[in-house]
Amino acid sequence: MPDIIKLLPDSIANQIAAGEVIQRPASALKELMENAVDAKATFIKVIIKEAGKTFLQVIDNGIGMSETDARMSFERHATSKLSTAEELFSIKTKGFRGEALASIAAVAQVELKTRLHDKETGTEIIIEGSEVVSQQLCATPHGTSVAIKNLFYNVPARRNFLKSTPVEFRHILEEFQRVALPHPEIAFTLHHNGLEIFNLPISNLRQRICAVFGSNYNERLVPVEENTTVVNITGFVGKPEFAKKVRGEQYFFINNRYIRDGYLNHAVTNAFEELLPNGSFPTYFLMLQIDPSRIDINIHPTKTEIKFEDEKPIYAILRAAVKRAMGKFSIAPTLDFDQEQSFNIPVFKGDRIPLQPTIKVNPHYNPFKEEEKQQGATLNTSIKTDWQQRIAEKIKPEENFQSQKQEVIAPFSHAVQHVHFFEQVYNSYILTYHKNQLVLIDQQAAHEQVLYEKNIAQLQNSSAVSQQELFPVIIELSTQSFHALQQIAETLKTFGFDIRDFGKNAFVLHATPAYVEKGKEKWLLEKLVEDFDSGVTIDKKQLLEKTARSLAQNASVKLGQTLTHKEMKTLCDNLFECQSHNYTFNGKAIIVSLSKDELIKRFERK
Ligand code: ADP
Ligand code: MG
Repeated sequence: MPDIIKLLPDSIANQIAAGEVIQRPASALKELMENAVDAKATFIKVIIKEAGKTFLQVIDNGIGMSETDARMSFERHATSKLSTAEELFSIKTKGFRGEALASIAAVAQVELKTRLHDKETGTEIIIEGSEVVSQQLCATPHGTSVAIKNLFYNVPARRNFLKSTPVEFRHILEEFQRVALPHPEIAFTLHHNGLEIFNLPISNLRQRICAVFGSNYNERLVPVEENTTVVNITGFVGKPEFAKKVRGEQYFFINNRYIRDGYLNHAVTNAFEELLPNGSFPTYFLMLQIDPSRIDINIHPTKTEIKFEDEKPIYAILRAAVKRAMGKFSIAPTLDFDQEQSFNIPVFKGDRIPLQPTIKVNPHYNPFKEEEKQQGATLNTSIKTDWQQRIAEKIKPEENFQSQKQEVIAPFSHAVQHVHFFEQVYNSYILTYHKNQLVLIDQQAAHEQVLYEKNIAQLQNSSAVSQQELFPVIIELSTQSFHALQQIAETLKTFGFDIRDFGKNAFVLHATPAYVEKGKEKWLLEKLVEDFDSGVTIDKKQLLEKTARSLAQNASVKLGQTLTHKEMKTLCDNLFECQSHNYTFNGKAIIVSLSKDELIKRFERK
């Protein structure tokens, strides 16, 4: 039998490598932006069309390349960032594998223009499917421009695998932000289909975060800073009351590189402990500087995972730093841009680093304790969980009461509405009579069900009652939220919202459903957007149903909120008019009842 093994031609080898490195337009964007950062650019301009599927260009004012380097840059394993194996463990650049440009050129049509700062002319190279089409001198500004056309034009399987433009655009935004956030010293712009999406001037980290996610983030951020010989930590965590229901803004940057790390994420979440409402995720932007010899970045082709020499001390230091920051925040006045550096945090110095840095933070200390006393006047989510917890504890001894099988209460007939006894228990449950039974009504669950059925009814007879805003409210959102809201704006009309585009990342709110509390409009829209932030495309019917649910859950009164006698009566009346008043649309119990017979049994008179 003849020998059958042969070496693959470069073009095929590159295409195979591209499969790992370039999965979608966003991965190409990441590689090009990282090259621009490595080239010491101070301004990076990104232009894309159709989420990068047809066109993606990154222009920088960095060092540029010579004619020979320009040609070499497309070879596989060609890099200027590494020459010996040892250097792999002192990497300070984003790139080092020398395969990005080769991979991109294997699966797209690429035009490179580059010019060194001390040269009069530059070089232009056109390369398609790893074949150089042309190379010539050209006039071009200092720095480098790489334009990619028709990604995967020669790999139909990959091209067909790409998702819809909105989904791919979300990936683009995500990768853009991951590079732009840790580099506030560089200006960035992003244009999509001719529209300017981002224009980020040179600034500091706090300002960069606000420029990306919206100026309302300023008040949400608590600075974190910790210097040890193992790791230096800077950055911000979000105040607990702004925690999100979806895993949203969670960013670790290790040596300015975005990294995914479940272990470190655990350290941060753990530091928040009971401060976070159940099922919510903290926001954080944390920059860790670690000696490159103590980590291995070369374990994943896209370099988003990392291996630590010893991760335990990093976990401990990170957790302590976040706790300390939260403790400080509870006594610190409102923070603004100027105060970014104002905290006096001791530095751990010396040969050996304490494994568990000493912190003077009482883990049981809850900065919200003070507010708790003002029984739910202005309710924030953190108080809510605490309330829920405490309520749960208090109710425990009477467990039997709850575990009694709930009696199904017959639909309330309109004739029986003369109950006047309503007492609010623990600021959360309404104690009243219903059909000769003593009942406890979960005020939040009840209101959710009332609002839900109201919303569904509005859908069926398009009868939404809205209130016009006297002064239209302008709502500024992050770019991502803006796009998410744009997608549901039409649907929200059905429910009585009148929202119109108002230029860059902003909407004008002309009307809201009548039951939305004044001043809570913006908050409610943000919550709605959060619920829709999953990026999954659903059909119109599902969208309406989901909006009805989300609105009901977000706009309802919450546990811990004091209700007047009149509010309790209206809520109970509305509840008993609902089609389902024992359970909410998502299966939560609304009512616990106790009949006279049961009372007698409990007092053992039988
Ligand atoms: P790597 O970044 O891992 O070195 P790439 O394939 O991304 O590999 O790039 C190959 C080389 O091309 C880089 O090492 C760098 O010398 C050069 N290069 C790429 N992009 C740029 C740029 N925007 N400006 C200057 N040089 C660049
Ligand atoms: Mg690179």
